[in-house]
Amino acid sequence: MYRSFLGKNHLHWCDVCKTPVLGKKCGCGTPTREVVLTPPGDIRPAFEDDITHINQVYREHFGVDLIPEGHLVILNKVPDIDRMEEIIMGGAVVGAIRFYPDEERWEAMPRPPAALYMSPSMRYVVVDPGAETSIQTKGASVLAPGLITIEEHVEDGDQVFIMIPDGRCIAVGRAKVSAKEAQSMERGTIVRTRKTKPVICVPAKRTWEDALAANEQILTNIEEEAIDFVKRTMETNPLPANVSYSGGKDSLATLLIVMKAAGKLPLLFADTGLEFKETYENVQTVADYYGLEVIRTETASRFWEVMEEEGPPAVDARWCCSVCKLHPIKALIEERWGECLSFIGQRKYESFKRMKSPRVWRSHNIPCQLSASPIQHWTALHVWLYIFRENAPYNVLYTRRIDRIGCFMCPSSDWATLRLITRDYPDEWKRWDDALNQYKEKHNLPDVWVEKALWRVRGDEEEVNDDESSYT
Ligand SMILES: [Zn+2]
Repeated sequence: MYRSFLGKNHLHWCDVCKTPVLGKKCGCGTPTREVVLTPPGDIRPAFEDDITHINQVYREHFGVDLIPEGHLVILNKVPDIDRMEEIIMGGAVVGAIRFYPDEERWEAMPRPPAALYMSPSMRYVVVDPGAETSIQTKGASVLAPGLITIEEHVEDGDQVFIMIPDGRCIAVGRAKVSAKEAQSMERGTIVRTRKTKPVICVPAKRTWEDALAANEQILTNIEEEAIDFVKRTMETNPLPANVSYSGGKDSLATLLIVMKAAGKLPLLFADTGLEFKETYENVQTVADYYGLEVIRTETASRFWEVMEEEGPPAVDARWCCSVCKLHPIKALIEERWGECLSFIGQRKYESFKRMKSPRVWRSHNIPCQLSASPIQHWTALHVWLYIFRENAPYNVLYTRRIDRIGCFMCPSSDWATLRLITRDYPDEWKRWDDALNQYKEKHNLPDVWVEKALWRVRGDEEEVNDDESSYT
């Protein structure tokens, strides 16, 4: 499937400072080089749990960690069947991890620069140096006659490193046979090589502080632009103003900008009753820390009533958004102000639909709310660097491999994330599981409907086009 970037690719690298830079020139004055990524390119920093998880996936397969301590890691979510993320280090994609929902397993998919960080002790092949050029530059397969060694754990379909006897990695690929089969082969393909263009990768230990220094001017520029936007928008639209706050990083960055432009505005929080406890904590922490009023909707019971009648919300029947967010917010605004201006942390890199959204808009579902996004053009990495620079209290869920904050059982979440939530948040999940099982029994649905989460997609009706442009 062809997908284009939702904006330009911002990720560059300074090979002097050895840090990511979100522009063509580093703070040190050096021109940067662009890091080639898979679109849409909503890059974000890897947190410690991300790194631990990636290392575990690589260690299980290759016997060693991919990411050494003290290196900056950036992740880039790639469109795939479920969840797949590119791993960027040293200014290059060094690999990826991919989740297979049917088998419920993660796969380590290294790229050749991964070998600058790790020497696999499992799942590699060693080939005759005579084959180096054709394998490395032409992407030729590893054939039986050119094979010197195949490590014993290699099975058909495995990702493998292709090495030459001096220990250098010349390529990566997927095994077409097992190590056992390969031993007795005199001809035929052992590994199908992954064609890759040569890339620059410069490993170095760095911190996010170093990255902040390299990006200081860029952050100041986007901050000034966003502050100007807030001031202009308030001047031309003299309405009671607030910040739509969800407990997520984008609304936090928006809040920081709005406070600098306009001082203290109230937070508008759509309480779906389905938030993680960490999200409720973050809303309270942020309100206390900055001394802000929280205006929240009360919706908790409504969801469960509709759930009993309509069944669980699904990707193609997302009634939850309008029931839990849009209607209560609309009612609250009408009652409190009649009409208002809300600053919302919506970004075009989030989705194709949002790329086309204007920076100031009115949703047809909530005509009494004029919405404006100061951070429309930011990537997740802009948002994070800005939050780091401002030392703002962000939601801890992000440090636990949950990269989108919303209702804990959101049907739009990938299966990899839902699996993680069932494991790490058993209390939240139990209530949901009980409700699903009740509905299942009442409607004579099969067990897999719950076990394999078939409830997430109905597939039997036209897609309900809930307006998702607010409050995520
Ligand atoms: Zn630099």
